[in-house]
Amino acid sequence: MAGEIETALYSVSTPIGNLDDITFRALEVLRGVDVIACEDTRMTSRLCEKYDIKTRLVSYHKFSENKRTGLFLDYLREGKNVAIVSDAGTPLISDPGEILVKSVSEAGFKVIPVCGACAVITLLQSVQREGESFKFTGFLPRTQGQIEEVFIKNKTENLVFYESPNRIRKTLETLRALRPDTLLSLGRELTKKFEEIKTAPVDEILSNLVEKGEFVCLVHRSPDDSDDALIIEKASTLKRLRLCDKDIINVLCALYDFPKNKVKEILFKL
Ligand code: SAM
Repeated sequence: MAGEIETALYSVSTPIGNLDDITFRALEVLRGVDVIACEDTRMTSRLCEKYDIKTRLVSYHKFSENKRTGLFLDYLREGKNVAIVSDAGTPLISDPGEILVKSVSEAGFKVIPVCGACAVITLLQSVQREGESFKFTGFLPRTQGQIEEVFIKNKTENLVFYESPNRIRKTLETLRALRPDTLLSLGRELTKKFEEIKTAPVDEILSNLVEKGEFVCLVHRSPDDSDDALIIEKASTLKRLRLCDKDIINVLCALYDFPKNKVKEILFKL
């Protein structure tokens, strides 16, 4: 198999916890390429030691992406092949690699995906959700206002995002304040020894929350109340423009013919 490796950039998924979660093909590619671009050489070394991979590791993280891209392009031009891996999971999914993939494609080389573990898919493959579709946002934005906007605007979507242990409580409290009846699936430490997967109303999840480890969240879409979502979106915009509640009610009822009581109820919650 190694002999069949062609000159290309291989984007290779690696485990998100359990080191057994790697494909035969991924191992063959990692053994067969000339160099592996990795976020943190120490992290990737552990995987390489376990599977007796001797390939040269070169660090490639978000701060060196621009600088190092040229080096890997030179390798490809010399007829060598390159793999990119991240610390865990799939490259380019909330992880570096975009600049390299773009440059390599523009230079006319192939980018070959070698699929495998990815935290968002690992959660989705283990919980029931209503409807096929989902929206993945990666990490949520930083400010409170932006996070609120994401929760308000995506009320009718199955929304999936990554969160860190030091922000998880605040994020879920924000969700509870805006959408108290929301059902949540929380994946913590997926594939690892203390893996936890829970589906429950956000309040219940908060009352037993362990703020340690790595998290993926699925906010289940709310029942069909598209008018509510629209009112929330429009009212939030007008609030940001500093209109008073009375004016917001008048504007929304005049422009969209929303029921006055509904707008009042939503404004009260906002
Ligand atoms: N590229 C990775 C992937 O394919 O899943 C994601 C990288 S992102 C920088 C890291 C975030 O993914 C973590 O902060 C956490 O939110 C989530 N994550 C990674 N491993 C996880 C695990 N074993 N269980 C739960 N979430 C995980």
